[in-house]
Order: sequence, then C-alpha cells, then structure tokens
Amino acid sequence: MRVGFGYDVHPFAEGRALWLGGIQIPHARGLKGHSDADVLIHALCDALLGAANLRDIGYHFPDTDDAYKNIDSKILLARTMDLLRTKNYQTGNADITICAEAPKLNPHIPQMQTCLAAIMQIPPDDISIKATTSEKMGFIGREEGIAVFATVLIERI
Ligand SMILES: [Zn+2]
Repeated sequence: MRVGFGYDVHPFAEGRALWLGGIQIPHARGLKGHSDADVLIHALCDALLGAANLRDIGYHFPDTDDAYKNIDSKILLARTMDLLRTKNYQTGNADITICAEAPKLNPHIPQMQTCLAAIMQIPPDDISIKATTSEKMGFIGREEGIAVFATVLIERI
C-alpha cells in the first residue's frame, strides 16, 4: 500500500461555471483555469499520481497544450486512473478536504462522491469529501478562490 497527497488552488472569475468534484454547482462565479478548473479533481489526480510516483498533473496534462483547453477534468481523472493501472495500482480510498468560504457545499457532496466513484471504479463509500471554510481569513476567507487537499491510498493489484 502507498499513500499520496495532492493540493490545488484556483481563483474565482466572472463568467465561468463552477465545477467541483465533477459536477456543476450553482454560484455567481466559477473558477479560472486552462481546463474547467475543477480544483477538487486536480488535487485528487495529484494525490493519485504522487502515490504511484508518476510525477504530477501538469507533467501529464500541461496547461500550455491547447488539447486541454476547457477540458472536462473528469477526462483527466479517467486518464490518471489509466496511468495508475499501467503500474498495476488500484485505489483504496480517498479523503478530500475543500476549503471554500462560499458557496455552501455540503448539499452537493453525495453527488460528487457518486460521480467520482464511477470514474475511479470504487464504491462511493471509499471517497470521503469534507467542506470547511477559512473562518473569513486569507484569500479563501475573502472568497478569492478555492483550495483543495486530497489524500489517497493505493494498492498493488
Ligand atoms: Zn488545477
């Protein structure tokens, strides 16, 4: 068994949809990024790649490549799972913490779990997603962006 850790942050921007954990969440602003800016999936991919010692998301899917412009991050997660399978790894469980002052995320967590579990081919119960705020402090507290921390366990098949 191996452990992996991932972190990502994206700033809010006007005129963008908010994608988080593979689903679209109603909010006045979305996150800015080369892809759909799904900060949760990016942190999760980095945790998975880190656990398998497969570098990081920017290495495999560079934001300078037009192929990834506005790409659905669920595709990046599916490709990350393919990369892990080439090294004979399967996912044990994931534990993810979203740091966001707004919007309220708890009502959306079950749908995120279902969405990610289908892509990762594991039960939704193996994906824990927690939402916290930054108690109005710092860039998270000023609602300038969202940060996500992810930890995963992987096992050799
Ligand atoms: Zn990202």
